[in-house]
Amino acid sequence: MTQDGPGQNHCPALRQAAEAARACAQCGACMAVCPVYRVGRREDSVARGKLRLLRGLDEGSLKADRQLRQTLGRCLLCGRCTANCPNLTPAREGLQAGRAALAQISGVPFAKRLLLAEALPRPSRLNAAAAAGYWAGKALPDDSGLLHRLSGLEGVERLPPLAEHPFLSQAPAEVAGPLGAPRVAFFVGCVANYMRPDLARKAVALLARRFTVVIPQGQGCCGLPAIAAGLGGPARSLAKRHLALMGAARVDLIVTACGSCAHTLAKELPELLGQAEAASRWGLRVREISQVLAEEDSLLAGLSPRPDFDGAVAVHDPCHLKIGLGVSEEPRRVLRAAGLDLADMAGQDQCCGGGGLFSINEPRLSDAIFAPRAQAFLQSGAQALATSCSGCALQWRRGLPAHLPVVHPLELLDV
Ligand code: SF4
Ligand code: SF4
Repeated sequence: MTQDGPGQNHCPALRQAAEAARACAQCGACMAVCPVYRVGRREDSVARGKLRLLRGLDEGSLKADRQLRQTLGRCLLCGRCTANCPNLTPAREGLQAGRAALAQISGVPFAKRLLLAEALPRPSRLNAAAAAGYWAGKALPDDSGLLHRLSGLEGVERLPPLAEHPFLSQAPAEVAGPLGAPRVAFFVGCVANYMRPDLARKAVALLARRFTVVIPQGQGCCGLPAIAAGLGGPARSLAKRHLALMGAARVDLIVTACGSCAHTLAKELPELLGQAEAASRWGLRVREISQVLAEEDSLLAGLSPRPDFDGAVAVHDPCHLKIGLGVSEEPRRVLRAAGLDLADMAGQDQCCGGGGLFSINEPRLSDAIFAPRAQAFLQSGAQALATSCSGCALQWRRGLPAHLPVVHPLELLDV
C-alpha cells in the first residue's frame, strides 16, 4: 500500500473507511444502540470514536499499531450503528474496511493468519486442522492453557468439542425429494459441519420433505471469520469457490441453518466479488432455513414438536439475521406452527456478544455483553433457548446452565 498524503492513499480499504469516517457527523446517536459501548461507556468503543480514529489513520496522525488493531477489534460488526444512523453513515461497513486496511498495512498475527489465510480457504486443510483439534481436545485437560498458547486466541478453550466425523465426511451428494421437487443446495457452515452435525442432518431431512437437496462436496467456510479479521483475499477465494460449486449444482435456492452464514453468502459475497451480476443474482437466492420453512405452507402444515420437549421456548434474534437480512418473524412462525409456546423474553433482539470470533478474542467484554441476556432468559420462564445462528448458539451454550437446551429452532421439531 502507498500513502501519498491525507485522504489520497492507494489502499481501497482505507479509502472506504475514510469515506465512512468523513460521512459521520459525530452526532453520537450510535451510542444508544452499540452493545460494546453499553458495557464500557468508552468513546473508542462506539462507531463515532472508531471512525474518528480511522480518520486519523487516513490523515497520518495515527499509526497502524497494535493498540489501534485492538480498538477496532472491539466491535461485533452487528450493524446497529449503520441501521440507526440518522445521517445514513455506513459505519459498520467503514469499521470492517478499517480492519482490512489495518491488516494490509501492519499484517495479522501469525497464528490467526495461519488459521484464516492458510487453512480456512482450503477445506482439506480445515478438515485436517479439525481432526487434529478433535484429538487434541480429547488428550488435553480443559484447563491446560496449551490450546490458548498454540492458537494465540485467548478464549479458544470456550469452543465446544469437535465432532469425530464432520457432517460433510458422511453426507450423501444428494437427497431426493418428492417426484418433480425443486432443487435446493444445502450450505452447512463450519459450526454445523464440525461441531453440530446432527443439526445439519435434521436440516437436510426437513428440506427433503419438499425439495431435492444437493449437498455440494468441497464447500467450506462462508468466509465470515476472514472478513471480520480484515482478510479479504481468503474470503474472496472462498466466495469464488462457492459461486462455482453452487452454480454447478443447478439449484433454485441455497439454504443454510445459520443466520451468519446466510448473511455472509447473501450480502458480503456479492460485495467481495465486486457486485458482479452473477454474484448478486446468487445472493438473492440464499435463505436461512427458517425462511424456507415459513414460506412453504406444505412444510409448515407437517411440523410437530419433538416428543421429549415440553415447555415454552425463548427466541433470540441473531444480529446478522434480524439487522442484516430483516428476518425475525420466520423462526417464530415455524415454532408456532409446530405447536410450541413462545416465552416473552426481554431484549430478545439485543446482541448476545458472540460476534464470530469476538467472544474468543474479547472473552471478558463478550461475557459482560451477554450477562443481561442470560438474566432475561432466566426471568422469561422458558425451558429452551432457540436461535438461528451457530455463533449465537455457541455463546448461549457457554453462558447458560448446562441443563437448559440451546438449540436451532428446527432442533425442537420432530424430524
Ligand atoms: S455513525 Fe452515525 S450515529 Fe454514529 S456518530 Fe456518526 S453520524 Fe452519528
Ligand atoms: S457494529 Fe455494532 S458493535 Fe460495532 S460499533 Fe457498530 S453498533 Fe457498536
